[in-house]
Amino acid sequence: MEPKAKILVVEDEQNIQSALADFLEYHGFEALIAIDGLEAERIVSEQSFDLILLDLMLPKISGEQLCTKWRREGLQTPILMLTAKGLEKERIAGLNLGADDYITKPFSLEELLARINAVLRRTDPARGVGQKFLFGDLEIDAASLIARRAGHEIPISKREAEIIQYLAANPNRVISRDELYKQVWHDTMTDLGTRTTDMHIAKLRSKIELDSEQPQIIKTVRGAGYKYEC
Ligand code: CA
Repeated sequence: MEPKAKILVVEDEQNIQSALADFLEYHGFEALIAIDGLEAERIVSEQSFDLILLDLMLPKISGEQLCTKWRREGLQTPILMLTAKGLEKERIAGLNLGADDYITKPFSLEELLARINAVLRRTDPARGVGQKFLFGDLEIDAASLIARRAGHEIPISKREAEIIQYLAANPNRVISRDELYKQVWHDTMTDLGTRTTDMHIAKLRSKIELDSEQPQIIKTVRGAGYKYEC
């Protein structure tokens, strides 16, 4: 089963906080609440989220400052900004905060849910390549777990398909073992996790590389992780 998407709600108004958390949990998300900008900053430095719902007007550190800071630091978590009525579209766009979307208060919960799902769909990198795609000189069918090269069919496991999908969606970027493990096994990294990742990559290479000693599709970046170049 897919793990629940984890959402951080950064909101200082108590009635909105609890309504949002209840609503999100009811719809199958895991929700955490931060009551001001400072707490949000601490929580985000300690754990990762699939989405941040960020109120613009917050005590201590404003949503605007937080968003700008996070983006400057390279945080890629999608951010859906909650803005007060009266801040016009143009103004929000003009703020250029690096948020993925925004929704104006008061909003209906149905509208919020639709926005959340849209942002999650748009930003989940593993979904970016779809089920059928090219990977190196292979044609990958992730739904039927088949890789094809020059008419030959190579069966792949579900994990292997997920690894390929993630690498294909993130070309020319070094993917650390931690990142890959988190994406494919949905777990935090351990020593065993490191070995599991390496073993799967080795197995995958033996299937898809012409020479697994000299991999051309999934490259190793020493001390950093793996990279798919295209
Ligand atoms: Ca507020």
